[in-house]
Amino acid sequence: MKKDKLTCPSSVCQEGAELIGIVNQEGMVDILEHPIPVTQEFVEIAHQGRPPEQRFRFANTCVEKGCRQWNGKGCSIGDMVASLIQAEENALELPACGIRRQCRWYVQNGPKACMACPLVTTDAAALNSEITAGASSLTS
Ligand code: SF4
Repeated sequence: MKKDKLTCPSSVCQEGAELIGIVNQEGMVDILEHPIPVTQEFVEIAHQGRPPEQRFRFANTCVEKGCRQWNGKGCSIGDMVASLIQAEENALELPACGIRRQCRWYVQNGPKACMACPLVTTDAAALNSEITAGASSLTS
């Protein structure tokens, strides 16, 4: 990951990414306070079961216009995720998250992105040569 760039919080399982969340039994993502570097060994093991993006959340460098979710100004998925949160829910506590300061969704949308973030799993089926992501509750 490039530390001088913002971080995409819904990336794919690949070496060099960071593991930032684990999908729990309720289907919500438990966000990790301390991201874990993804190794090639982890990638190989994780791909033996269901798509790893359905069981974990991964972060990697935001590639901006190299991603089809880029709307010219920012990440459209981040905006969509944040829109799930109503104004009256603004007082909810944010998950402890180890990537907040450089997170693309947080930088764009602030705390609302974090409140909805545990609802999101990456849609690996939508992935192609581009890096792209989708919210499970919004999945197309
Ligand atoms: S949206 Fe918030 S909780 Fe989710 S990865 Fe970004 S900073 Fe962390």
